[in-house]
Amino acid sequence: MLADNVKQVEKHIAAACDEVHRPVNSVQVIAVTKTVSAAQASELVQLGITNIGENRVDKLLEKKQALKNEKQVKWHLIGNLQRKKVKLIINEIDYFHALDSQSLAEEIQKRAGRVIKCFVEVNVSKEESKHGIAVEQTEAFIKSLQVFPNIQVVGLMTMAPLKAEKTEILEYFQTLRQVQNQIAENKWKHAPCLELSMGMSRDYPLGVKSGATFVRIGTAFFQ
Ligand SMILES: *Cc1c(COP(=O)(O)O)cnc(C)c1O
Repeated sequence: MLADNVKQVEKHIAAACDEVHRPVNSVQVIAVTKTVSAAQASELVQLGITNIGENRVDKLLEKKQALKNEKQVKWHLIGNLQRKKVKLIINEIDYFHALDSQSLAEEIQKRAGRVIKCFVEVNVSKEESKHGIAVEQTEAFIKSLQVFPNIQVVGLMTMAPLKAEKTEILEYFQTLRQVQNQIAENKWKHAPCLELSMGMSRDYPLGVKSGATFVRIGTAFFQ
């Protein structure tokens, strides 16, 4: 049942927060609805989850249209975005979680009608199949984004490899946190970089223990 799953997830987040002495309201849950209907997404909103994430442009637009009366919902595009689709989506979302190239940033700058809150995606695990900027290049990349007034770097995002062990996942998440801290210290106006988007159904407690401010959860709600 959806309501039970929401309670379970909230319980696990509260326990993880407790363990590392963080207030529970320092973590926001994004429900990733890519595998379910708009009706189920709507049910989640009724249960109090107001951050909705989709990894595809067409699916996000579909859900947003279906939930157009739910003004409190914040829309997160969490997946990789092709340049040619930027104009369709960029003014429809509240957060973009996968900024990882100069050319994409240029296109966002061109198409955005306001400042867009972006996470820079970092490929901490160095998997070849993964999108994202290398850890070593992240600070320079973010610095270079200062020429785009429509882009605000609110934080960093990463995904742990599918098969990684717990200790390995913790290392990746803690690395991302260190990079985030280091960038935040610059106090760049275009890049406050105070947020961390990390942790999915199988590893969100590890994300929370490592400082995640957003976790992106799909399966755990809908299983
Ligand atoms: C699908 C997806 C998630 C959620 O994954 P679950 O394992 O279902 O929780 C999180 N982040 C991204 C980028 C995704 O594509």
